[in-house]
Amino acid sequence: MSRIDAVWENCGPGIDAFMVCSRQNRYYLSAFTGSAGCLLIDGAHRFLITDSRYTEQARAEATLFEVVESRRVWDKAAELARSQGWKRIGFEAEHVTVHDYLRLLAQYRDLEWVPLTGIVERERRIKDDVERAHLQRAAQIADRALSGVLDHLHPGVSEREFQLALDHAMEEEGAEGVSFPTIVASGPRGSLPHAKPTERRFEDDDWVTIDFGAVYQGYHSDETVTIPLTNRARSGKLQIIYDIVLQAQKAGIKALRAGVFASQVDEIVRDVIIEAGFGEYFGHGTGHGVGLDVHEDPLLGPNPPNDVKLDEGMVVTIEPGIYLPQVGGVRLEDMLLVTAEGSTRLSAWNKE
Ligand code: ZN
Ligand code: ZN
Repeated sequence: MSRIDAVWENCGPGIDAFMVCSRQNRYYLSAFTGSAGCLLIDGAHRFLITDSRYTEQARAEATLFEVVESRRVWDKAAELARSQGWKRIGFEAEHVTVHDYLRLLAQYRDLEWVPLTGIVERERRIKDDVERAHLQRAAQIADRALSGVLDHLHPGVSEREFQLALDHAMEEEGAEGVSFPTIVASGPRGSLPHAKPTERRFEDDDWVTIDFGAVYQGYHSDETVTIPLTNRARSGKLQIIYDIVLQAQKAGIKALRAGVFASQVDEIVRDVIIEAGFGEYFGHGTGHGVGLDVHEDPLLGPNPPNDVKLDEGMVVTIEPGIYLPQVGGVRLEDMLLVTAEGSTRLSAWNKE
């Protein structure tokens, strides 16, 4: 089944048409890469409404869609709905502002606007062969870039200098950009899970946590390594922490397979850290889906409201961490493709 047909089926019988305005969902369904526009689909029709900056590009990219030019997307959607006889229009509740929604209710009173959630996101969980190849390539770019800048990872270099070198190396390896602002946290700053790189210079005893990713063809990679700068660093407390996080991550990877619930994987990972006595220092979830967004469905956390049974073709991260205030922290993250028998690792950095 095509992506559009699957999405239309997800909408259920209660609506006449579905409006898709979020950038990633729009791209996923239409291949249109522009920054503005909305799709309007039903079982038979596929409209792409965008403004004059993008109409030529849209016609070239979104070949399955009829491109309609308008600067006022919602007005045009309402006009199309009336001409098609559509009354109930579904829209992406997560991606429409309250402001726009109130305007819809006030301006187009003859139409019914139906908020829907997760309609496209549900389809995006399973990656097809092309998406898997893009994600694999994104992960490779990031790994190669890190290998290439390892000689910058020594005492005296600042977090900021290292981040710039790594970002530059990812672009040189073929990244369109970075997946998110690269995290480099050294020494005691390692206890900040999402530390912003500073002018702090690496010291002999430091462990450095680097969370980084590359974008390739719109697809994101996401990986975290924690590296001791010197052999002396290995004799400190963080070596003990490292071994626990590594065991937790390995347990999670071992548990990963189609048919297992996301929360079960989180529980297995979390139990290793709790049993080692560091449960209170692992505050975040175990992982997340990754694709057109760096964080997407499914979430691997403790009892998420909508627990997801993992399936073949999902690409998720496993990223336990332990963060000790004033001491430092360790996080290890890999990207894995879920298979029937287990998983295939897409990020290749050896955490052993
Ligand atoms: Zn990450
Ligand atoms: Zn992540």
